[in-house]
Amino acid sequence: MDRPDVLVVGAGVSGLTTSVRLAEHRLRVRLVAEAAPRDTNSAAAGAIWDPIYAEHPRVPVWAASSYKVFSRMAAERFPGVRVVDGVEASRNPMTSPAWALDLPGYRECEPGELPKGFVHGWHYTAPIIDMPPYLAALEAMVLASGAEMRFGTRLTSLEQGFAEAPIVVNCSGSGARELVPDPAVKPIRGQLVAIRNPGHKEFFAEHTDELGEMIYLLPQGDILLLGGSAEEGIADPEPDPLVAEAIVKRCGDIFPEIRDAEVLGHRGGIRPSRPLIRLEHEKLGDRHIVHNYGHSGAGVSVSWGCADEVTRVVLGLLRAS
Ligand SMILES: Cc1cc2nc3c(=O)[nH]c(=O)nc-3n(C[C@H](O)[C@H](O)[C@H](O)COP(=O)(O)OP(=O)(O)OC[C@H]3O[C@@H](n4cnc5c(N)ncnc54)[C@H](O)[C@@H]3O)c2cc1C
Repeated sequence: MDRPDVLVVGAGVSGLTTSVRLAEHRLRVRLVAEAAPRDTNSAAAGAIWDPIYAEHPRVPVWAASSYKVFSRMAAERFPGVRVVDGVEASRNPMTSPAWALDLPGYRECEPGELPKGFVHGWHYTAPIIDMPPYLAALEAMVLASGAEMRFGTRLTSLEQGFAEAPIVVNCSGSGARELVPDPAVKPIRGQLVAIRNPGHKEFFAEHTDELGEMIYLLPQGDILLLGGSAEEGIADPEPDPLVAEAIVKRCGDIFPEIRDAEVLGHRGGIRPSRPLIRLEHEKLGDRHIVHNYGHSGAGVSVSWGCADEVTRVVLGLLRAS
């Protein structure tokens, strides 16, 4: 490819999903990233579809369209994508949140269905994504579309990308803090523990409005992922054994069979936290940057909706040029 139409920076879920959509519109795409997909923060995510851990007025729209895409992928057995029944529950009196009410399988739990200490909960069906195989399959899709990929390249500015293409799409996640630079991007480390699944077929999540010492269990076949944690300001993704121990204890306090299950591994990653997701066009003379970063704790959940929106912006720029 001599000169692509678009240079995508980043090979996490945002960069790969956006590249898939751009290539589907017959654009010539080149993707560059420091980390290959399997080494990105995206690979560490759980990941359950959940529209609440990122801020932007369009999150509900992006999340809803992503839900549809994941459901279709699950039906087509796309690697890593499942649609799973489960329960979200709160220890405090509350009414079910508006975003849950129209989801497939929604119904309020009977008191007897809730674990001890929980007073409100609801069933629903949600996509759960096993990220390593999912990212590998997205990567294969991008390559099959004819796009080029280059890993191990660290850009020091987005303008550097204009040497390769007139439009740069910035999907650099927490890397945007230095690359843009954008001090509004703050790292939040998250951790998960993978155990041999003692038989959980449904997910369970404690309802919280904010990231913190969370409790969630995500079944992925023989593996059960236990979460979670959120440590503000920590940019080192290396899992902390004490945090892992605390996660297993919290989950084990609710589901005692977890205490004795074999630990298979640990995952750590950085959530690219930002007060608002940044999905916008920036014009620099006759060249353009389209930003798509800052998805905090919901980057998987909004990935397809954001990719569609970036693609609309890029197509508009190309039409106007
Ligand atoms: C433990 C954990 C659990 C999570 N659970 C969920 C969940 O259940 N549901 C959900 O929706 N979300 C979840 N998230 C959040 C989600 O994972 C993120 O929002 C999402 O992965 C962000 O993806 P990204 O592609 O924007 O960034 P990343 O995955 O961080 O990818 C960034 C890419 O940009 C590249 N890059 C950065 N800077 C540069 C540079 N200067 N030059 C070149 N390349 C660069 C990197 O190398 C990498 O390839 C979780 C996150 C964690 C850590």
